[in-house]
Amino acid sequence: MRGVLVRLTDAWQEVLARRNANTSHGAYPLSVQNLLGELAAAAVLLQSNIKFDGALVLQIFGDGPVKLAVVEVSSDFGLRATATVVGPVAADATFSQLVNVGNTGRCAITLDPKTRQPGQQPYQGVVPLSDAHQAKFGSVAAVLQHYMLQSEQLDTTLVLASDDKVAAGLLIQRLPEQGVGNLAGSAPDVSTSAIDPLEDYRRIATLAASLKATELRELDAQTVLHRLFWEEKLLRFEPLQGAQGPHFSCTCSRERVARMILGLGADEAASVLQERPDIEVGCDFCGAQYHFDAVDVAQIFRQSDPPPQTSNALQ
Ligand SMILES: [Zn+2]
Repeated sequence: MRGVLVRLTDAWQEVLARRNANTSHGAYPLSVQNLLGELAAAAVLLQSNIKFDGALVLQIFGDGPVKLAVVEVSSDFGLRATATVVGPVAADATFSQLVNVGNTGRCAITLDPKTRQPGQQPYQGVVPLSDAHQAKFGSVAAVLQHYMLQSEQLDTTLVLASDDKVAAGLLIQRLPEQGVGNLAGSAPDVSTSAIDPLEDYRRIATLAASLKATELRELDAQTVLHRLFWEEKLLRFEPLQGAQGPHFSCTCSRERVARMILGLGADEAASVLQERPDIEVGCDFCGAQYHFDAVDVAQIFRQSDPPPQTSNALQ
């Protein structure tokens, strides 16, 4: 079994602080904030659980008041997150009420490699927010558990919890008995091979699932692990903290916005500039505002050798 526990504090608070400072959007409704926090914790867990050099992007395309919730985590655990909310939202709105009212909401996991060959598309898996019988999932955790089982054939237990101070998560996954990433690294013990291979997983998963949201939010990792698994043989790795751990990081830049304007085309850019003094582009993730006046825009299109298109529609 492999487990990962994450507690986002500073990084998560910075996501919220930047949103609160954004005068055009304002703070998230409580229910949206908690959904985005759970999604952020989950994205860090997934990124830490795979060996992947690039960005992991976890998105929910909602059919309710939350049209989009997105978290991007790079391989060095730089993370950014944002949600697009349309219309009023109840503070106690459920997951389905936020993103899956008509049962057409989707969840996407994208792996965007840092170095990509020309024409190479990032890997993307997309799943509905309901099971094979159209029953709606009630949480981010339920969606992702189902995804991991369906797409990766990996038994996974996720516990996620969030408030305005912390976004936390615990992931438990059953490893293949042999193969890459198996911590035991040895052949199965013959004496135990008659035992149902799922039995250990079920026990650990049941313990993990007994963790309450308040405990996950409020207790430190040591206490959580001891409380849940004190009877288990536990091998712990050094926690990743500070610069090595999750931290807020936005990948937007003036150069990337310039490439986006280039993608618009000279005519479209000129027509915007006829109506206003400059082209203004705001970053929903960090709140940065980029301004390009007529001189800047002319310079973008004067470049005879345009830079390659940005791989990501997000700035
Ligand atoms: Zn930004």
